[in-house]
Amino acid sequence: MSPGTPQTVAVVGGGIAGLSAAWELVRAEPAVRVIVFEGDGRLGGKLRTGTFGGREVDLGPDAFVARRPEALALCAELGLTEDLVAPGVRGASVWARGRLRPLPDGLALGVPTRFGPLLRSGICSPAGLARPALDLLWPARGTPGRGASGPGSPGGETESDLAVGGVVRRRMGAQVTSRLAGPLIGGIHAGNVDLMSAAAVFPALLEADRQRGSLMRALAATLPARATTGETPVFLTLRGGMGRLVDVLSRALVERGVELRTGTTVGELGRLGPADDGPWVVGTDPVGGAGGGAGPEADGIVVAVPAPAAAHLLRPHDGALADALETVTYASVAIITFRFSAEAVGHPLDGSGFLVPRGEGAAPDPLVTACTWLTSKWPELARPGDVLIRASVGRQGDDRHTSMSDDQLGRHCLDELGPMIDIRRPPDEVLVTRWPDAFPQYTVGHLSRVAAMEASAAGLPRLALAGAALHGVGIPACIGSGRRAARAVLR
Ligand SMILES: Cc1cc2nc3c(=O)[nH]c(=O)nc-3n(C[C@H](O)[C@H](O)[C@H](O)COP(=O)(O)OP(=O)(O)OC[C@H]3O[C@@H](n4cnc5c(N)ncnc54)[C@H](O)[C@@H]3O)c2cc1C
Repeated sequence: MSPGTPQTVAVVGGGIAGLSAAWELVRAEPAVRVIVFEGDGRLGGKLRTGTFGGREVDLGPDAFVARRPEALALCAELGLTEDLVAPGVRGASVWARGRLRPLPDGLALGVPTRFGPLLRSGICSPAGLARPALDLLWPARGTPGRGASGPGSPGGETESDLAVGGVVRRRMGAQVTSRLAGPLIGGIHAGNVDLMSAAAVFPALLEADRQRGSLMRALAATLPARATTGETPVFLTLRGGMGRLVDVLSRALVERGVELRTGTTVGELGRLGPADDGPWVVGTDPVGGAGGGAGPEADGIVVAVPAPAAAHLLRPHDGALADALETVTYASVAIITFRFSAEAVGHPLDGSGFLVPRGEGAAPDPLVTACTWLTSKWPELARPGDVLIRASVGRQGDDRHTSMSDDQLGRHCLDELGPMIDIRRPPDEVLVTRWPDAFPQYTVGHLSRVAAMEASAAGLPRLALAGAALHGVGIPACIGSGRRAARAVLR
């Protein structure tokens, strides 16, 4: 062990970010003692696979983007490359103008880069097509330094950041915003594009908006060649579900001597000794709440818990950092998984599923935000005679589902989905999985707030932050953030 390397590192939070931090720690410094503290009885956080309809089904994330390297690299290090599976079908639809319509080719995240496919998709009405048609002939001005100032446009917009919804509405009109950008870009975070930071979630949009001329042409130039040819899968999963990543990773950690303490919530982080650089003391709350205890000392800490929990732990050491962490708000979602007999659903399940935009005008927002045709998307889940369908509900500003019972929620989803996919018979099995406060919201100004948080955290000795609240909610981003935090603590 090189001089100055910590002897013991505590990782608080056993989600994919915390487990990836532990993995990086033992790979970089095999002699370091690593302890992962996880409040829940199981590891993995949002990664969760359960048995449903006699098969292993993901109840949280069911895939990760293949174009980023972090998850692929981790799977390779764990010997899981052969177990990566691409979806069995291509393409998804959106509920628009009274029916399901396939998404047009050439979308950059959720913004069209070609007019023809958008026109043919039928997603926008003739009036809704006017603005995108004009984008090619008479583009709306990119206005660097100012966002759209219409209703719903948030404060905090600066030269370096604008709301995604404001940019797309100004350049491509209201229908492209609500029917494509909203469900596709907003959907990644269960968020609202009118509040969402373009710099954080879609920097290419910001860049394209700064250029003269057509937004569609500028965005088209940013699309990787393979996305336009459609040959490489955009998403991958693991045979047996994403929970396998957690199982295999935790086994590999135990083999390398990492202590995985589940059912152990960290209630406080203390410091030993009067000096500001004494070791950290991890105060744990045993399950059942029968009094806390001073846990082990650690000379390095990775804090890989959601922002409110991190704020609680760090408040005694840096009030401003805790305040900044508390500004990150979260959206709650729920996943409702249905098993139907094959003939119960009339609509052909010939893609990976569909997205449901918010209501427009006076129309109420549907509760369902997206629907995945699990047995089409992942052929290994298919069995003769039945189909599995998963509905997602909940997004920023809509937590109606949290006050419904499981029964009510299942019935409400069926009422909404019935006319969309022609449900003719009730499901044979329903499972509701709730994810309260699951998706951190990257609102305008997110990147500069995160930079300030990380600068403050760097002022605390051998402590680093990791997890979905910082640089991306997707699994690859969380893996990357855990590994970076580990390297920072070792430095
Ligand atoms: C329904 C759903 C679908 C999703 N779909 C996708 C997808 O398809 N693709 C994709 O890439 N991403 C998806 N995501 C996002 C992704 O799964 C998450 O952003 C990511 O897993 C978060 O990882 P994390 O380690 O940062 O946080 P978490 O998974 O939240 O882990 C944090 C852990 O810290 C623990 N903890 C909290 N406080 C304490 C404490 N005081 N002491 C000890 N432990 C504590 C928690 O119990 C938890 O296990 C989805 C998320 C959800 C909820």
